[in-house]
Amino acid sequence: MERVIDKVALVTGGARGIGAAVATRLHGEGARVVIADVLDEEGKEVAGRLGSGALYVHLDVTSPQDWENAVKAAVGTFGGLNTLVNNAGIVNFASIEDYTIEQWNAVIGVNLTGVFNGIKAAIPALKEGKGASIVNVSSIAGLRGYEQIPGYTASKFGVRGLTKSAALDLGHYGIRVNSIHPGVISTPMTAGLATDMSHVALGRVGHPGEVAALVLYLASDEASFITGAEFVIDGGDTAGTVTPRTEG
Ligand code: NAP
Repeated sequence: MERVIDKVALVTGGARGIGAAVATRLHGEGARVVIADVLDEEGKEVAGRLGSGALYVHLDVTSPQDWENAVKAAVGTFGGLNTLVNNAGIVNFASIEDYTIEQWNAVIGVNLTGVFNGIKAAIPALKEGKGASIVNVSSIAGLRGYEQIPGYTASKFGVRGLTKSAALDLGHYGIRVNSIHPGVISTPMTAGLATDMSHVALGRVGHPGEVAALVLYLASDEASFITGAEFVIDGGDTAGTVTPRTEG
């Protein structure tokens, strides 16, 4: 119940999906949490449900000014910042042949530059506290290619590389930086997609709470010797392909 009792955490994209599950789990384990998103109604609702020790702030991760305000809110309200979860993300679809520069800029802006902005904004506050941890939410699309999502795939590979570079630059401050790589998780982002999991070892999609359990571990001092690492949470999707089981 108290694995992050002394932590203040900021979770981007915290209004729904994986981010809301992460914020809820960290809060349940004792952290004070700042839920940051562009979806103000949903974000306020999550913070209201958690009650004391939870705060909603409007944060568009592409805006350095929003980031400055969000970190200020965390420090002003809860006295510091120990954990940054760069979770906000978007996806858009087209073959590279038809993919537009607007699509590219949108997805790189949120998924990659947004993570860069967040790390930059949080460093001064993270340096002040103990047991600082940054968890960057990449994807299995940051480990291998997928058709029809060239910008998303590039952004998630970028997050993986940025994580390692930041881990090297920030280790001497005691700030750990890791990336996580979920497979298909049931959230609003994947709600409309046809997902056939019959080739995957565990044969099902993941749940946001399962990803939240991994983030909790990396945010906690239990992971005190882990930095610059990448954690796959995909039910075996990238391990290989299984033959779909037939009944009987
Ligand atoms: P989601 O349900 O769409 O939630 C993402 C949240 O981020 C939404 O509230 C979204 O708001 C918000 N957001 C979008 N742009 C933002 C911005 N500029 N600033 C701040 N917040 C912004 O997605 P999810 O499935 O929980 O995904 C969370 C993260 O996990 C993403 O980085 C995603 O790429 C990654 N991931 C997801 C899966 C999966 O299968 N679900 C797999 C691998 C990795 P809007 O509704 O306005 O966009």
